[in-house]
Amino acid sequence: MIAEILCVGTELLMGQVLNTNAQFLSRRLSALGVSQYHQTVVGDNAERLEEAYRTALSRSDVIITTGGLGPTVDDITKRVAAKVAGKPLVVRPEAEAMVRERFAQYHREMTLNNVSQAMFTEDTQLLLNPNGTAPGAIVPMGEGKVVIHLPGPPSEMRPMFVDQVEPWLRARSGCVLVSRYIRIFGMGESMVDDRLRDLELGGNPTLSPYCSTGEVMLRATASAGTAAKAEALLEPVVREVCTRLGDVVYAVEEDDTGSLARSAVEALKRRGWTVATCESLTGGLIASTMVEVPGASEVVRGGLVTYQSVAKTMLAGVPADMIEKYNVVSAEVAAAMATGVRERLDVDIAVSATGLAGPGGGTEEIPVGTVFLGIATRGGVRTIPLHLSGSRARIRELSMKHALDAVRRTVDKE
Ligand code: ATP
Repeated sequence: MIAEILCVGTELLMGQVLNTNAQFLSRRLSALGVSQYHQTVVGDNAERLEEAYRTALSRSDVIITTGGLGPTVDDITKRVAAKVAGKPLVVRPEAEAMVRERFAQYHREMTLNNVSQAMFTEDTQLLLNPNGTAPGAIVPMGEGKVVIHLPGPPSEMRPMFVDQVEPWLRARSGCVLVSRYIRIFGMGESMVDDRLRDLELGGNPTLSPYCSTGEVMLRATASAGTAAKAEALLEPVVREVCTRLGDVVYAVEEDDTGSLARSAVEALKRRGWTVATCESLTGGLIASTMVEVPGASEVVRGGLVTYQSVAKTMLAGVPADMIEKYNVVSAEVAAAMATGVRERLDVDIAVSATGLAGPGGGTEEIPVGTVFLGIATRGGVRTIPLHLSGSRARIRELSMKHALDAVRRTVDKE
């Protein structure tokens, strides 16, 4: 089955609205194993929309539209699809009841033009919209092809797709897809690719890499007649990936919601350890990223933001003469920050970060991107030097990720 997303709206073409619908739908479709080869954005213009429908129908089986289901004259998505299908739009009583119910629920008066939201071709399958007035629709276009109309507002489109369109697509695709998300930190995309090239050529399961700041996520997806058969195809490949990549793999999960923070918090929970932070260039980012994880309060005791040197001395007990002697961006100071906060908050592990995020202030000895992390446990303290590059935001984000990675590795290993 080949699907194609067709987003309708001049506001998308003008750049006034970011096309998050296309991103959402294409991610969900690829997770379902539905192929997509093209995507289109078209303005509220009947002629160009008709052309877009005809082109899409010539190369895809399922065309998913978003937007243009409203009652105004520029809401042309359904009307043009009906023209291409060669069938008239009629008021469908079930659809009118849906629209009326929504208006009653919102205590709004239904005007005459709102009736247009209840107009569909006779053979259209209606989709309920619990979050708005416009019903969605699955419109047969002949030759087994369909156009699926979804509303523009993401808050209406997303639940309609997940609750009603996904089951429809699954029932027709005839196969079950099972995925694992393998999360990697500390190895670049090309190195990952180099180690896994032969596995990537296998076809089933497929391995698809996605990159974000400092990270690679691999999605392994197997398709088969049943979930158990897909799992059986998937399991040896995932195991092989983990063996080849080693401990840069920090999580293997069934969905793509994992993060270094979650892995760090889970490792701390498994071990029954508490953690504290002492942050300079990250300004609280390490702590705040950890507390985004539900249940972090079990392990995150607290943290210090010691941005100026004087705060490092006053709050974490870093000797002023040590800062003077070694420089505030130094392994010695990172170690003292970590030890200071570990003792003050009496935690099992403490992490510190001091560094130069730039853009100014770099010298030959300490260029922008120089960062030292400190990791203190009850058994001692060690430091990790980092040489990062990029913008201030990137250097701060990478420092945070390295710190979380160091926490999860230390907790798992010590
Ligand atoms: P309504 O009944 O609210 O008019 P509609 O189905 O006719 O809904 P549009 O009028 O095309 O949808 O879009 C309504 C709003 O939905 C847009 O102003 C925009 O904020 C959002 N929207 C539309 N398309 C997209 C898209 N592709 N990605 C993200 N948001 C979108």
